[in-house]
Amino acid sequence: MAARTAVKAAPKCLVCKGTGEVAIPVKVGRKQRITEDHQVGMCLTCFGSGQA
Ligand SMILES: [Zn+2]
Repeated sequence: MAARTAVKAAPKCLVCKGTGEVAIPVKVGRKQRITEDHQVGMCLTCFGSGQA
C-alpha cells in the first residue's frame, strides 16, 4: 500500500485567506468617506472560520 502524500486540507476562504479576519475600511462622515484606516473584522464569507 502506497502512503498517501496528498493530504486533503480544508479549502481556505479566498476572501480572508484562511485567517477568518478581513480588513474593513473605516468610513467616516455623512458621506461615508473611506479613510486610510482599517479595522479588523470577521470575514462574512466564511463567518470567521477561514474555510471556504
Ligand atoms: Zn473568510
